[in-house]
Amino acid sequence: MASRIPVIAGNWKMNTDLESGINLVKEIVALSNAVSGVDKIVCPPFISISSVAQSASGSTVQVGSQNVSANSDGAFTGEVSTSMLRGLVSHAIVGHSERRALNGETSEQVAAKAIAAAEAGISPILCIGEDLSVRKAGNAATFVADQLEASLAGYSDWNSLIVAYEPVWAIGTGEAATSEQAQEMTAVCREVVRKLAPDAADSVRVLYGGSVNSGNVAELLTQPDIDGALVGGASLKADEFSKLIAAAGSK
Ligand code: PEP
Repeated sequence: MASRIPVIAGNWKMNTDLESGINLVKEIVALSNAVSGVDKIVCPPFISISSVAQSASGSTVQVGSQNVSANSDGAFTGEVSTSMLRGLVSHAIVGHSERRALNGETSEQVAAKAIAAAEAGISPILCIGEDLSVRKAGNAATFVADQLEASLAGYSDWNSLIVAYEPVWAIGTGEAATSEQAQEMTAVCREVVRKLAPDAADSVRVLYGGSVNSGNVAELLTQPDIDGALVGGASLKADEFSKLIAAAGSK
């Protein structure tokens, strides 16, 4: 199996103001800068990206955005384009379940965002995951495979892609998927990539996300197809987030 560098990515969502965001990233840098063998990414709100990036500059902590527009410029009120983010972020989360649910983002739109990001040299962290009703009906694997394939329509920059399997029922609930469930579904994601780009499947990083914390991260990371975590709540506490980084660094 190809060796893949693990990723710990923090999605701050609509939390932190300018000052607390700068303080948070400085604490994360202080606690985690020296940890090797893991890619560390924080994704602050758009308004803080520039300042957080400045505070992280020269460190091993990278900065990402929580979203990106598929459009290059023009009459798209409230949107942020790849050219505005270029040079500030290394990664962009696309297709987070909150945006799919609250903003009605479709997999077709998510694919367009992933393509736009990759074309700008920004690695997409592409999120997919089933809700509880789909899981209870026994359709999680089919749903996730279909959603990922649709969200990768037309995508071709396999070196830059990161996939994040995030079951909606595990996000922010404190009820993480078991490591077996997460393994089964991250393997499904990898097989979708294999179908679309056979040569890339063993090198694309596939993350698990959903109530990851310092108590469950080690067990999740033992799974062969889990290459790290996309983290919400626990990414807002520097000490907790740094424990996740340390666990992944020793994977
Ligand atoms: C997320 O929002 O991507 C997430 C995984 O959140 P949490 O870790 O809080 O469940």
